Amino acid sequence: MDKVIGKKYMMCDGCGTEHDVEIVSTEDVAVFKGMEVVFPVKVYHCGKSDICYQDEAMLDEGFLSMKDVYREKTGLPASSDIRGSGPGTA
Ligand SMILES: [Zn+2]
Repeated sequence: MDKVIGKKYMMCDGCGTEHDVEIVSTEDVAVFKGMEVVFPVKVYHCGKSDICYQDEAMLDEGFLSMKDVYREKTGLPASSDIRGSGPGTA
């Protein structure tokens, strides 16, 4: 399920040195408003220490995708659907 989608040369929070850190697409599970939600997230993976971690942007993005999955499960419109645009509405 985990998939490497890129890498970035940066100061690694996992091992504390600068090196190429993998960016991995994976899934996380959280309980949001009493409902268990499985949602896609991106994480950094340190190949040296085998530690996965997220930065602020990844946490924000993960929180948004969690809410989108929650809306899908509960039948509420996703944030991108609110404007009601679509084919055949003219
Ligand atoms: Zn590292």
